Amino acid sequence: CGIVGYIGEKQAAPILLDGLSKLEYRGYDSAGIAVNNQGEIQIRKSTGRLKVLSELTHDGAEMPGTMGIGHTRWATHGAPTDLNAHPHQNTDGSIVVVHNGIIENYIKLKQKLLTKGYQFASDTDTEVVAHLLDYYYSGDPMEAITKVMDRVDGSYALGIMFRDFPERFFAMRKDSPLIVGKGKDGNLIASDVPAILKYTRDVFYIQNEEIAVLKKDKITFFNIDQEEIEKEMHTVEWDV
Ligand code: GLU
Repeated sequence: CGIVGYIGEKQAAPILLDGLSKLEYRGYDSAGIAVNNQGEIQIRKSTGRLKVLSELTHDGAEMPGTMGIGHTRWATHGAPTDLNAHPHQNTDGSIVVVHNGIIENYIKLKQKLLTKGYQFASDTDTEVVAHLLDYYYSGDPMEAITKVMDRVDGSYALGIMFRDFPERFFAMRKDSPLIVGKGKDGNLIASDVPAILKYTRDVFYIQNEEIAVLKKDKITFFNIDQEEIEKEMHTVEWDV
């Protein structure tokens, strides 16, 4: 239901928790965050209010690291349980995903992945994205991401981290909202403006099947053919 991501000079977890709290008005049944600390990824997630997650992580202090992604879930596939809460990951935990939307063909993809030996930890449609990324990944995240975008039907806003790439994370969307914010000491993604207004008013609007690559001091955009594209920055004028 809600997505936030951050990479920059500051600690990520408190910014993710704060951003998610600004999206609470949209409703949710569970919440989770993942932080990549120089290639070491920690995930915490729980059903219930964000307060539970804040307590679990001591307001984020338990999760050091300057890059992370967060999620509030409104369950569409799989009951609202701790296991089904996002982030989801591949089996060895080296690829981590948060997702808004619905992967319409997830059963077909899941069956295919099961025959290839992949094991699933949740009942969500989202988890196929993590394993499918693993299936297509052989060192080049953009290659894996664009292949997955080719294979999935339905709607998605996705935030993705690779353990191998602790200095960048990835975001893309189709028919679910996602924006990128360019801040002074870090860059962000969010499913909606209120989550990032405290940090910046300079935003890029991601269009369908576009990909953003966020580093702490640089944002680049690509189309599904992996060609770099130019995007115009907009200034958000409104207050929340
Ligand atoms: N379809 C996904 C799930 O049920 C994402 C739901 C959402 O957008 O929060 O886990």
